[in-house]
Amino acid sequence: MKALVTGAAGFIGARLCSALADAGHEVVGVDLLAPKPADDVRRRRAHKLRELGVCEVREVDLAADDLAPHVGDATHVFHLAAMPGVRASWGDNFEAYSRNNVLATQRVLEACSVAEPQPRVVMTSSSSIYGDQDTMPVREDATPKPRSPYGITKYAGELLARTYAMDTGIDVVVARPFTVCGPGQRPDMAGSKLIAAATGGPEFVINDRHWTRDYTHVDDVVAALIGLAEKTRLPQLAYNVAGGQRASIEEFAALVEEAVGKPPVMRDGGVGRGDPQHTWADTSAIARDIGWRPTRTLRDAVFGQVENPDGGAVRP
Ligand code: NAD
Repeated sequence: MKALVTGAAGFIGARLCSALADAGHEVVGVDLLAPKPADDVRRRRAHKLRELGVCEVREVDLAADDLAPHVGDATHVFHLAAMPGVRASWGDNFEAYSRNNVLATQRVLEACSVAEPQPRVVMTSSSSIYGDQDTMPVREDATPKPRSPYGITKYAGELLARTYAMDTGIDVVVARPFTVCGPGQRPDMAGSKLIAAATGGPEFVINDRHWTRDYTHVDDVVAALIGLAEKTRLPQLAYNVAGGQRASIEEFAALVEEAVGKPPVMRDGGVGRGDPQHTWADTSAIARDIGWRPTRTLRDAVFGQVENPDGGAVRP
């Protein structure tokens, strides 16, 4: 495989680049690298990926730059770049979410559709497209009911994928990961905040102790993305990717306490604007069509995250 990974300096992207290189694939990454001036974690990751011989990460803005030279003759494009996070997607931030999630995705699909040969495209959508569903575990054919502007941008990306596939014949598949955790998890995610709250950082403010998430280990997500890339013309456009280990925030916090040796400092009172109450995925379609099943536990994820908070760029 000759792979282009967008969002290569991100949490999941860096881990994907490492796994692809370890499996002997040729990898090039692209990333905005610095969405916020003060944020140099992505630059450090990009540097580490280069240092470890995993791949070069080119500084590219998918929403503005010419993408043809980067798509080049890639056989596979993994499109992970996005502005993630539900809560930050309201208000004036929506403009940046639209740009980096919708416009950037349309430009990636356009560049891939005119490339010769057309690469196989694997895109990450999100469980956030579902919102609160009456029937759980949720299947891919449930009606999307995103509860946040972020979820809407991710669903718009899926619709673009469907339209480009119909109109240009491009071979595209969409993964819908559920709450990804493990080494390198983004600092804005609850898992990282709980670990911070157990290690001297700010206290963790809980929305609702009973809400649950279907947690997924980052390396299981990476395995699913590679598995989806290796099969062509799959029968479904979109597949759930989830660990099948639902836990409440208190259960997650108990694992953090075990891993760190101290409980996270928590208090009630958060307002999770745009957060669904529960997430729970039916993953029978991806198991049936590519044989993927999660192999890591939530415990593996939490302990791995505590041991290796920077995660991302690794080469075992
Ligand atoms: P991340 O923020 O760590 O990585 C995303 C990367 O995309 C960043 O490095 C960022 O610089 C880059 N990027 C953003 N806009 C760009 C642009 N215009 N041009 C080039 N690069 C750009 O996020 P992540 O958690 O690794 O998420 C990766 C993907 O998986 C995203 O598409 C996200 O929506 C999806 N996803 C993540 C989760 C999760 O729990 N982390 C769950 C479901 C879906």
